[in-house]
Amino acid sequence: MPLRFYNTLSQKVEEFAPLDGHTVRVYTCGPTVWNFVHIGNLRTFTSQDILRRWLQYRGYKLMHVMNITDVDDRIIQQAAAAGQPIGEYTARFTQAFFEDTGKVRLQQPELVCKATDHIDDMVRLIGQLGENGCTYESDGSVYFRIAKFPAYGKLSHTHFAGMKAGARVDSDRYDKDDARDFVLWKAKKEGEHYWDTPLGQGRPGWHIECSAMAMRYLGETLDIHAGGVDLVFPHHENEIAQSEASTGKPFVRFWMHTEHLMVESQTMSKSLGNFYTLRDLLEKGYAPEAVRYLLASVPYRKQLNFTFDGLRSAATAIERLRNYELRLKTSKLPEGMSAGIQERTRKAQAQFEAALDDDLNTAEALGAVFEYIRDTNTALDGGEFLAGNREGALDLLERFDSIFDVLRPAVSEHGLQDGEIEALVEERAQAKKTRNFARADDIRRKLLDQGVVLEDTREGTRWKRK
Ligand code: AMP
Ligand code: ZN
Repeated sequence: MPLRFYNTLSQKVEEFAPLDGHTVRVYTCGPTVWNFVHIGNLRTFTSQDILRRWLQYRGYKLMHVMNITDVDDRIIQQAAAAGQPIGEYTARFTQAFFEDTGKVRLQQPELVCKATDHIDDMVRLIGQLGENGCTYESDGSVYFRIAKFPAYGKLSHTHFAGMKAGARVDSDRYDKDDARDFVLWKAKKEGEHYWDTPLGQGRPGWHIECSAMAMRYLGETLDIHAGGVDLVFPHHENEIAQSEASTGKPFVRFWMHTEHLMVESQTMSKSLGNFYTLRDLLEKGYAPEAVRYLLASVPYRKQLNFTFDGLRSAATAIERLRNYELRLKTSKLPEGMSAGIQERTRKAQAQFEAALDDDLNTAEALGAVFEYIRDTNTALDGGEFLAGNREGALDLLERFDSIFDVLRPAVSEHGLQDGEIEALVEERAQAKKTRNFARADDIRRKLLDQGVVLEDTREGTRWKRK
């Protein structure tokens, strides 16, 4: 079966291939850098990382653009409260965003762009919409007249029949089921940051930034545009209106939306006391890989209920994977190759791939790998797993980890890289062989100081990070 994704626009699972056959042009709505990202945001960004990695696994090249929203109502308020210029205020949270997403191992998009570096592009786009008769001005602000775009509502599948003509909204974020002419350019307000432009003094609305940057870097028709479900309406609906009303072409082929993360079955909110950033979880002693695993383990179109039990289970699952890899690497195995095991490995890989091809079904992909681990652990116990089967099993783990990326512990925690540890373990084995026990003990102590514990078994020495 070919690669398939659910498309919010058609409300169907559709076969996916990039328009030009090899490079996938993706745009994702990035963070609004007014604060640290919370684990809900990270869920959406992690699902986009899985998407990236799967497209690469399937041999495609990527041109992925992500914006940084570094001007909006909240940023302006918070920066004013902190007595800082907005650029200084947002720089701190932009850096924190990359630190946090680096910790959960998100690949960097090919291009990250800031809204404030693209004001000219936005002004030009608004000008084009004006020429096409889709805008009007009121008190120095410019609005998009949605009555001029009959397809409005096609993404959120809503008929805005009761729409009041000319009802305007200035705020970027609103969640009423009610379409209104939305603001493209906001007139300068006293004391607020503004730009001097042909449209007058003011600043862009939130929606226009994504249309302007997406089309600047990816062309008029994108392969994929992604974000959290809360962005379907109005943000993405407005992006479609702005882009298509200016170019007359379809803006996006596939719209992909990640369901929300809930905490202990409730909406995450500061007032409920169940609001977490990645930093909160790391401070409680959880590993970033466990957070990544938990966020990635539920298919992106299902709501994810975050619980601390779930986080602990994620850590245990990673333990199992790492122990299995260690066993594979260090066990002394009988010579030969079992055709049955080879076939079992091939089947596990096929199941893993089929699951991810099916709209990124991460839960099934994990299921396939864990079932394989269970079966082959039994075969290892029974002596049916032979030396010639090792490579295939390690290759499967490698494939798994090219998507899930949890096998390697964070390096900074322990200093030593896997390869360095392996080398020392080998040197110690040689020292023991030559009865140089002082050197062997030295190495054991040195590794222990670095948090690495050795376990001598009949099949050789295994090592483990504490
Ligand atoms: P923002 O910084 O508010 O623009 O949000 C960044 C991304 O996180 C967007 O794609 C949002 O849709 C997404 N997002 C916000 N809250 C949640 C949540 N609770 N669960 C999953 N994604 C979320
Ligand atoms: Zn956006």
